[in-house]
Amino acid sequence: MARDLVVVTGAGGFIGSHLVRRLAADGWRVRGVDRKPPEFEPTAAHEFELRDLRRADEAHLALRGAHHVFALAANMGGIGYIEAHKAEIVRDNTLIDLHSLEAARAHGVRRFLFASSACVYPAWRQDVADVAPLREEDAYPADAEDGYGWAKLHTERLCRHYREDFGLDTRVARFHNIYGPLGAWEGGREKAPAAVARKVAMARDGDEIEVWGDGRQTRSFCHVADCVEGLVRLMASDWPHPLNLGTDRLVSVDDLVGLVARVAGRRIRLRHDLTKPVGVRGRNSDNTRLREVLGWEPSIPLEDGLAETYRWVEAQVRARAERAPRASAGGPS
Ligand code: NAD
Repeated sequence: MARDLVVVTGAGGFIGSHLVRRLAADGWRVRGVDRKPPEFEPTAAHEFELRDLRRADEAHLALRGAHHVFALAANMGGIGYIEAHKAEIVRDNTLIDLHSLEAARAHGVRRFLFASSACVYPAWRQDVADVAPLREEDAYPADAEDGYGWAKLHTERLCRHYREDFGLDTRVARFHNIYGPLGAWEGGREKAPAAVARKVAMARDGDEIEVWGDGRQTRSFCHVADCVEGLVRLMASDWPHPLNLGTDRLVSVDDLVGLVARVAGRRIRLRHDLTKPVGVRGRNSDNTRLREVLGWEPSIPLEDGLAETYRWVEAQVRARAERAPRASAGGPS
């Protein structure tokens, strides 16, 4: 059983590269698929294929021989990115998801796990900072995050239809703000924890950093190792319905900056930019069903996870600064 072939799509990305390492360590035969290789470390997959899953023929080749599929490939980024690229994101993600599901059906894949998002929950349930944690059934009546969230919700439904009509055994995880090393940390696709870590790493003691919004918007954050543990458990479970995967510790963005500044040992002042996109006012995960179904929930303390993430981002910032003078010295004048 453990030598069965597991395909991870999005294996060149943040969560995918962590998941591949875990599955390979557990003894699975792993094929990673992505349109780009992993950026920060060589893949731990036994095979790695560069494929564009927006194309049906590529998705078909990517999933040949697969017994299990973790479908993580997506065009995604932080709130600034998904707000500014709605058409591109919905087009890419609906194509990737439909072609991946259809290829899985055609190849008789035993189990297919789709990486969904807390962005499927309706805005009107998330309009206060002290928000009620979101239960899975709260996704309906639907009013998902415009663009990215609707595409995720649509694929959740597609998973259900493929299960009910075609017998493809599907699983759906709704991620709540996954963070950790090996994720995007600059360039616009990074999420709040990596962006805050970068800004603090680039600041000097007493400096001011920019925070999007008034800083009182709230979220819960889940370390990538907990996310991977949850994915492995959900894939092994018999639960076919969407399941939250996150923590239920609500923190404000200002508090997040405070935690990172403490890890860095720096005094940081905040400048709030109210013109920047911030998403919903508050968002938290209700983990009641997660505990019932998996007998487990994420447990890595935010302080520990942020310390590790900060050290990793700081090393990237330092490495880039060291590369920059050399590059300009060696480049054309
Ligand atoms: P990521 O951007 O690091 O990984 C996604 C990967 O998909 C990238 O490596 C990208 O190159 C690949 N990809 C994009 N288009 C592709 C295509 N056409 N063909 C093949 N590969 C393609 O993001 P991540 O944080 O690792 O997210 C993984 C999954 O989890 C995504 O589906 C994302 O929507 C979902 N998710 C993540 C979070 C989070 O907090 N990180 C929250 C909710 C949902």
